[in-house]
Amino acid sequence: MLGRTARILLSFVMVMAGTVLGVSATAGTAHADDCYTWNRSLSQGSSGSDVTQLQIRVAGWVTSGERLSYDGQYGARTAAAVKKFQAAYGLAADGVAGPATFNKIYALQDSDCTPVHFSYAELNKCNSDWSGGAVPAATARANALKTMWKLEAMRRQLGDVPITISSGFRSYACNNAVGGSSTSRHLYGDAADLVGSPSFCTLAKQSRTHGFSEILGPGYPGHNDHVHVAHDPSPYWSAPTCGI
Ligand SMILES: [Zn+2]
Repeated sequence: MLGRTARILLSFVMVMAGTVLGVSATAGTAHADDCYTWNRSLSQGSSGSDVTQLQIRVAGWVTSGERLSYDGQYGARTAAAVKKFQAAYGLAADGVAGPATFNKIYALQDSDCTPVHFSYAELNKCNSDWSGGAVPAATARANALKTMWKLEAMRRQLGDVPITISSGFRSYACNNAVGGSSTSRHLYGDAADLVGSPSFCTLAKQSRTHGFSEILGPGYPGHNDHVHVAHDPSPYWSAPTCGI
């Protein structure tokens, strides 16, 4: 049993903790590890679900045409992506994911694990539960998360320019309503139609080095007013006006 004084002290500490949490929540910055916490440093040879979580967040830091696997195996390609991520944010680029790398990721993500400049709501203007597409709702949502982290990398590489998404996940009903292809990656949740401040050709060209296997832009039928990026198992790029 706690004495009365101890109980009062304890509740005071809890109130103080609540106050501190409240302040950080309203500040709108670094949401830290609300949604996922790494408990060890990762480097080449590491494997596990914590590697997969890291791969989701660095998959946008690849070389042109490369796509990082979310296989939970920390190989040379994962190390190279981590190095590029570290360099892009001014960290020591050693390819080892330790506390500095994880802290940068925590600073870059919201409490639902989406990167700070993108949201599930922006990737889904169709319905709120991600249902009715070509894959189960949870898969569509997970695919959208992967796309958002690639876009966060692209945004950073372009000099922190805003990138806006005009269309993301679509159910079959939403896809039909806008005349989308019956095999559209929008049905899978990983497609995003980009608008925003950079030119369409800048967006199309830049997206080649951030892990997107499907890029459709100016010159491709129906894509003169946006750039479509997605993760298609069959890679295809076409933006003839931009030389792609
Ligand atoms: Zn599209």
